[in-house]
Amino acid sequence: MAVTDHVDLNQFLDGVKRRNPGQDEFVQAVQEVAEDIFEFIQDKEEYHEYQILRRIAEPDRVVSFRVCWEDDNNNIRVQRGWRVQNNNAIGPYKGGIRFHPSVTESVLKFLAFEQTFKNSLTGLPMGGGKGGSNFNPRGKSEHEVMRFCQSFMTELYRHVGDDVDVPAGDIGVGGREIGFMFGQYKRITNQFSGVLTGKGLEFGGSLVRTEATGYGAVYFMQNMLERVGNAIDGKTCLVSGSGSGNVALHAAEKLTQLGGKVVTLSDSGGFIHDPDGIDAAKLAWAKDLKEVRRGRISEYADEFTGATYHEGERPWDVPCDLALPCATQNELGGAAARKLVDQGCIAVSEGANMPTNIEGVHVFKDARTLFAPGKAANAGGVAVSGLEMSQNASRMSWKEDELQNLLVEIMRGIHDRCVEYGRTAGDDHVSYVRGANIAGFKKVADAMLAYGVV
Ligand code: NDP
Repeated sequence: MAVTDHVDLNQFLDGVKRRNPGQDEFVQAVQEVAEDIFEFIQDKEEYHEYQILRRIAEPDRVVSFRVCWEDDNNNIRVQRGWRVQNNNAIGPYKGGIRFHPSVTESVLKFLAFEQTFKNSLTGLPMGGGKGGSNFNPRGKSEHEVMRFCQSFMTELYRHVGDDVDVPAGDIGVGGREIGFMFGQYKRITNQFSGVLTGKGLEFGGSLVRTEATGYGAVYFMQNMLERVGNAIDGKTCLVSGSGSGNVALHAAEKLTQLGGKVVTLSDSGGFIHDPDGIDAAKLAWAKDLKEVRRGRISEYADEFTGATYHEGERPWDVPCDLALPCATQNELGGAAARKLVDQGCIAVSEGANMPTNIEGVHVFKDARTLFAPGKAANAGGVAVSGLEMSQNASRMSWKEDELQNLLVEIMRGIHDRCVEYGRTAGDDHVSYVRGANIAGFKKVADAMLAYGVV
């Protein structure tokens, strides 16, 4: 095969922008990865020859579909649904479903792209995908959510399957929504299979799945600190997010268990600051607020003396040692990153996907802050989803302590892979961003090389 001319990083990114007009989040995600991969593949001719990066940055397919449902006032509502199947070189497509008004094709393409690297990093055989809809579950009745989920699955079912594509939850999709979608899949196909993860324990779900993303992000933080002789114990921690799904509240729980003092939580309305610390009892209250009563985080400040609510703001101005952005993409920009560094923050672990924008990432890089990108730090969730797939395939349920230990081990393995690829000779500092990008890329790229041009 003829060796193609090498394009440089800027030419490559120009091409990505041209082919994906108006898809800023997707272009941003590709740029973040490409900056490191270009350096890595510089002297590796076969990756250029087979156009591996260009192929990874083009999803295998994007399915877009209409979702009609009827609200409680008998109005017919029309939403758009998507499933982005980015890459299945190392296993069936795998990645969550997001229901949020901010969902667009660009957001889902960025998430599916990131997911490909993240899943590779776990060491488990899973490809990358993501799906969702611009449906807003907030303020909808239980029956409206059920009808929407059923309608969504009535189209999605033909594109997924336990060896094809295995979706899970994400923003706006927790256990309740997974239950509605799994029920509809089973009803349409007459099959009881492991087509979704994050299922209830009564019908094939795995213990530890709900906690896994938040706990995993904290284990990653612990691994980074231990490597430099430090620990979570006694540290002041900022956490953003507080959804009814997964990440923020469980990250806060694990930080507290390890001796950290969590002083913030947030939602899309604003953040609460509790200088006394959000201890186990207060966290239990917050979990009930978000998961059962489905209330707003502002109510926390009415309940607990000393806590304040900051409407329309994000928590990054509060002085801290550690920060865990666990809400959504681009919630931590350059100015916020600068403030964190100036006020003494020593480490950041991203529970959410791409919560720090490119400018913010560069601030942390220049300050040599310990910085764990989401694709490494929040991989615990999909890792336990992978274990749910294994349990479903063997019709077994593993014990909680077994799964907790596996999660700790998997996060340690991801950390160590990042260290392996994220260090430069003569410097003990690790770029976890570069390490995660290269380690995640290499496995997928080598599988693609083995398949030839497909
Ligand atoms: P949830 O829906 O449970 O929580 C999301 C939280 O983020 C809510 O508090 C929500 O506030 C807030 N939020 C959403 N959009 C915005 C916004 N535009 N501005 C500010 N706050 C916002 O979702 P998860 O906890 O499941 O997911 C959180 C993040 O973690 C996402 O980036 C997701 O992709 C990532 N992630 C999740 C995994 C999982 O296992 N669930 C796995 C790996 C990554 P509000 O309630 O007001 O909307």
